[in-house]
Amino acid sequence: MMIDLITQRPRSILALAMLLTNIPQQLPAAPDQAKATPLEIVLVEAPMVTPATVAQWKKEKFHAVAVVLDEQAEKRSYADCARHISEAGLDLYCWIEVARNPKMAAAHPRWMAALGSHDDWQKNFPNAPEPAIGEVAKAFPWVPIVYAEAFDAHLARIEELLQRLPNTWRGLLLNDLQGGPSACGCGNVQCRWAVDYHVPSTAAKLPGADAAARFTAEVRQRLGDKPVIPVWTTECAEVDLPPDKNRGRPGTGMCGTVGCATSACSEVFARQWTALTSDYSGPIGLLAAHTSLYRTQKEFGGGTGWVTNAMAYLDYTLPAKGAKTVSPDRLWVVVEGLRQDEETIARTAAIKSGAGAVIVARVKIDQSYEPRIVRK
Ligand SMILES: [Zn+2]
Repeated sequence: MMIDLITQRPRSILALAMLLTNIPQQLPAAPDQAKATPLEIVLVEAPMVTPATVAQWKKEKFHAVAVVLDEQAEKRSYADCARHISEAGLDLYCWIEVARNPKMAAAHPRWMAALGSHDDWQKNFPNAPEPAIGEVAKAFPWVPIVYAEAFDAHLARIEELLQRLPNTWRGLLLNDLQGGPSACGCGNVQCRWAVDYHVPSTAAKLPGADAAARFTAEVRQRLGDKPVIPVWTTECAEVDLPPDKNRGRPGTGMCGTVGCATSACSEVFARQWTALTSDYSGPIGLLAAHTSLYRTQKEFGGGTGWVTNAMAYLDYTLPAKGAKTVSPDRLWVVVEGLRQDEETIARTAAIKSGAGAVIVARVKIDQSYEPRIVRK
């Protein structure tokens, strides 16, 4: 497989032929063909990587393997992973889950993301105690980079984790660089825009909308010229609004009674996106793991085809809030491969979407949280 070094996408045979023969007028379909050929990556955990599984993934037309890099596996097993993958002629990427970190959350409960002041999240946790005066409800185990202490701790962790892997990898994917779930308190795990929304902070909240932009820039500085790809999540959408705030239309109910989707969510999302993309022209991951994000209601655009709605969110939200979209070939969409039948549909939809890469997650990308009470 020929990989374009700039876009990191496999070149189509037609595009190659064009280059070799230098007679593009005879191949008018070539640019479209090239667009329709995304880089396909399978996302797995280290113990899943064996010569047999890598051979199987190659047969399934994956061009690369992304391995979850965490504290679970030994250095030696990552070395084995890297060897099996390169021996099969596939590329290796690493995937690090940043914010969702049970160990860090248990060690530093005050760095956890707060559930915002709306109490709609409580309907999902009827047995959870309500925060009393002098207490804040947090989203365990989310420790987002939006606090100074967590920002530094996550940078150090990433540096440490990368020591475990031979330096043959092609790119690093960083997941969950936004705020915690249910950030305004509406209850939707995709509501990420706010930090301590009308609740007291228990850590040093970073100002501005550019925490992720600065974080990825810091990681890039440490890695030299290797690509560092932020994986982004879209916010609450119109379909999540309560009917009384959406012209009586039925919806997912995911935002409870809160109208954040068409106000603060989309506005701050656009600001954070602009910060992320203003000094960076590389790929951006887009998390479209439909069951992890509870996007399963087909009547509201959920299910295996949800990836197209996640992409559409960018197309309508960004221009509406005065921000620039990016061309689809810069998007690396992440879909679920937890069930064979669902994977086939989601993968096909993702390929058709025009995204530059399709990442099929054969591991669960957990996006859930549990409320925990922390004293101010
Ligand atoms: Zn919200």
